[in-house]
Amino acid sequence: MSSDDQHSAAASYGMEAMRLMDEYQVDPTPSAYSVWYTYAAGQNPALTTRINDRLGEGQPFDETFIHELDELVNAPQIALTNSTTSASDQLTGKMDSVLEIIATASGDTNMFGKSMQGVSAALSSEISAADLGRVVDTVVAATKQMEKRSRALEERLTQSKQEVEELRTNLAQARNEAMTDQLTGISNRKAFDEVLLTQVTAAAQNGEPLCLAMADIDFFKKFNDTFGHQAGDQVLRLVGRCLDGNVKGQDTPARYGGEEFAMILPNTVVDDAVKLANHIRETIQSRELVKKSTGENLGKVTMSFGITQFVLGDTPQTMIERADKALYRAKEEGRNRVIKSDGDSAEEERISA
Ligand code: GH3
Ligand code: MG
Ligand code: MG
Repeated sequence: MSSDDQHSAAASYGMEAMRLMDEYQVDPTPSAYSVWYTYAAGQNPALTTRINDRLGEGQPFDETFIHELDELVNAPQIALTNSTTSASDQLTGKMDSVLEIIATASGDTNMFGKSMQGVSAALSSEISAADLGRVVDTVVAATKQMEKRSRALEERLTQSKQEVEELRTNLAQARNEAMTDQLTGISNRKAFDEVLLTQVTAAAQNGEPLCLAMADIDFFKKFNDTFGHQAGDQVLRLVGRCLDGNVKGQDTPARYGGEEFAMILPNTVVDDAVKLANHIRETIQSRELVKKSTGENLGKVTMSFGITQFVLGDTPQTMIERADKALYRAKEEGRNRVIKSDGDSAEEERISA
């Protein structure tokens, strides 16, 4: 619009304002003129609506009403058209995605969600500058509060996560400790019982060979009596290390109790188990023992082994009994040896006959 056009439009709005004031018998005060000028120009939809309503009601345009209208003129409406509409669309869109994120993150969105929904609703209708200010304040306050809550929630979650991790580690440690012999560091009797049951059950199902070796230190009472309990413990640790260092992945060496040890050997046939036991036996007897505290020479210790292979129908108990029987024979036959009882009792009976 050119400045001439603007001028003539303004003049015609002014004329129309005068005419309307005359028609509706409004005192021609400056504020009344400003109200009716705005009405004539159609610049303020809220004002237009308010005046049309008043005309419909047939109520007079008294001073109080003009004052109310004057306020409307001085707090001009922002019609959410063009640029403001797209800004509000963007804000609404952003709030929707924020709401979605927070809803996913915490589920604790009631208050924030409600204020944001209120704001969304307000933005989708016409709104005054003053109200827009209040809306912005609401958004800022609600966002700050939510931020604080989210941070607290995040801290709580992080802390809980750490606690859970710690518990998990402690539990694993406790379980590990409950299954480990404290003196030698290899599996204890409890672990031995569990593993043997598992392996006997597996062998019964998959038909893979499974061997059990029971071993006992020879004349250990005498060793203890001669060199003391501490030196005896040193021997037990040495035996533990020898067993552990000579078995492979699936095997389970264990301290069965006192100076008795055991080895559970899955996927192993009896002759291989005998070879392994003999290798360990030789390693142990080759070790010259020296008392750590004094350097005193303690000589050597030897070990006896009894070995058996799983046969169908075996339980952990029947395997232990056969291996123990073979170990007893190893002792009887002079100690420091490996005797097998492969489950085929023919050989055993021939020997014992
Ligand atoms: P054998 O050749 O017939 O097996 O004779 P042994 O003396 O080894 O047999 P016995 O069962 O009579 O003695 C076992 C000894 O093992 C008794 C005890 O002094 C010793 N012993 C058992 N547990 C421990 C232990 O934890 N530490 C120590 N130092 N000695 C132990
Ligand atoms: Mg013994
Ligand atoms: Mg012994």
